[in-house]
Amino acid sequence: MIVTLWMVLQSMTLAVPAMAQKPAENEPRCSPKNYTYTCLLQDIDRGKVTDIQIDRVQQTARVKLQNQNQPVEVPLFDQNPELIERARQNRISVDIQDSTDNSAVLGLLAHLLLFMLLLGGLLLIIRRSANAPGGPGQALNFGKSRARFQMEAKTGIMFDDVAGIEEAKEELQEVVTFLKKPEKFTAVGARIPKGVLLIGPPGTGKTLLAKAIAGEAGVPFFSISGSEFVEMFVGVGASRVRDLFKKAKENAPCIVFIDEIDAVGRQRGAGIGGGNDEREQTLNQLLTEMDGFEGNTGIIIIAATNRPDVLDTALLRPGRFDRQITVDLPNYRGRLGILEVHARNKRLADDVSLEAIARRTPGFAGADLSNLLNEAAILTARRRKEAITMLEIDDAIDRVTIGLTLTPLLDSKKKRLIAYHEVGHALLMTLLKNSDPLNKVTIIPRSGGVGGFAQQSFNEDMIDSGLYTRAWMTDRITIALGGRAAEEEVFGPAEVTAGASGDIKAVAEIAREMVTRYGMSELGLVALESSGNEVFLGRGLMPRQEYSEEVATQIDRQVREIAIHCFQEARRIIRENRPLVDCLVEVLLDQETIEGDEFRQIVEEYTGQKTTPVSTSAPT
Ligand code: ADP
Ligand code: MG
Ligand code: ZN
Repeated sequence: MIVTLWMVLQSMTLAVPAMAQKPAENEPRCSPKNYTYTCLLQDIDRGKVTDIQIDRVQQTARVKLQNQNQPVEVPLFDQNPELIERARQNRISVDIQDSTDNSAVLGLLAHLLLFMLLLGGLLLIIRRSANAPGGPGQALNFGKSRARFQMEAKTGIMFDDVAGIEEAKEELQEVVTFLKKPEKFTAVGARIPKGVLLIGPPGTGKTLLAKAIAGEAGVPFFSISGSEFVEMFVGVGASRVRDLFKKAKENAPCIVFIDEIDAVGRQRGAGIGGGNDEREQTLNQLLTEMDGFEGNTGIIIIAATNRPDVLDTALLRPGRFDRQITVDLPNYRGRLGILEVHARNKRLADDVSLEAIARRTPGFAGADLSNLLNEAAILTARRRKEAITMLEIDDAIDRVTIGLTLTPLLDSKKKRLIAYHEVGHALLMTLLKNSDPLNKVTIIPRSGGVGGFAQQSFNEDMIDSGLYTRAWMTDRITIALGGRAAEEEVFGPAEVTAGASGDIKAVAEIAREMVTRYGMSELGLVALESSGNEVFLGRGLMPRQEYSEEVATQIDRQVREIAIHCFQEARRIIRENRPLVDCLVEVLLDQETIEGDEFRQIVEEYTGQKTTPVSTSAPT
């Protein structure tokens, strides 16, 4: 309000006319430069004034004097009865003309506008803090936590919409029955489980599964993310938990879904950099709430995480999240099922085979597959086609796995070098006995610094079973080193590029696993590293070293030996097939992409021998 007052004052001062200055002693009185109100009155009396124009806005009078061309300006006061009176007496015409230059009014308006803006801004901030979740207002009204959870009365998702995770679905089928017919269980004295923990990598459908349970049972779905519990102020998370359970109890039977429970449910007092009071309080509140309601109130809590290893053990005790269900990456059948679910609302051309897509996408989670089909649909629309063809699927797979295509390089030494590098990989994929067949090789660059790539169609059975043979692994290392080997063979050791850094990292990883996990080296059959940490769980904070420095040195030596052996093998094959390599590079430079079949055909023509038969699982 001080602001208003100040502005009103200022606009008032602006509106007050500048006072006539007192003439200096030595200046002649009533010169045109120094013409005052008094001068004007005098001149009127003397009959010197011919015409007066009064401007009420600027509060001046323009006075025309006899024997003077230019009118003089005289500042006026608010009311000038004397002036009007005298002018009338002397028969001088008085004209009123308000100037358009109403700067005083403008000034007032400007201030008013500023004031309104300030007021509006203030109101906006207040409103936002009252409504927007996560808005800047959360600092203003902590304490009375507004519900940050979402409630869906009907999720509309059924088990049919979830594919590829059959075991998890089967186990959860039971939960649906708990919700629908609790009497069935309570009649025989069974305690209905309160909590189910879904464990699995991102995008495998944990959220979807939880929603499907609610959908199947026809109960409301409350959801909140663990990260939303952890707030700036101590106590907010805990009160949020209380609110959530209060609402859930009012709406029972229902599902309460807590996503990313690891954010709040980490082992207490074990965090690096000290505990987090707020998180501990939230977790304690969660445990209290879970213990507080009886098993048959009809609330089932489903939590999801991809880090079960960091969870507080108290969460996993009986009576809390005592059911743990793993939701893994889908295998071939699973991927096919997921693709079928997501292909339901898409128009596919006849040549599209979901089986082929499923075969080509090992390691894809459900979310990746759904994203893949969506990308393909977008490409189809962009190309103005009627239905998604295998072409769009192929492009979408590359787009999702490797990156966006960029414009091809102009013919240059760099392009030639990339071509040799990729042909090196591709030739080894084709010639090595235990390798999966080449799918395609290309030198069209991709976003993310990819100059080109040679791609295999993996043998699904081996990947799913995890039964990699030593020969297969050795060949993989040789293939990975094929790019560098070709560069060195053709351009000499001085010209090799940093482009193989990814290959070399992959080599180190496979070779290390061979030595430390699979006992495939001279160190013998020892498992030096536990395979307990599933890949998606991420490693612990500190790598556990279960062997001495001496053994570490031995491991390094073995790894290096494998790499050197494979590199020599790669160089030998490329050296012995040099004319073929040159020919393939010319074709690749010309076409920019060679499909696996064409590549194999060229190789067979040159060498006169059959290449690795394409396994039945390779896409056609
Ligand atoms: P998570 O919660 O495990 O990270 P989501 O449930 O959020 O994964 O999955 C994201 C999306 O991916 C889902 O909305 C769905 O479209 C798709 N999806 C993931 N897994 C599956 C699956 N098993 N079946 C069908 N669709 C799936
Ligand atoms: Mg999720
Ligand atoms: Zn490479």
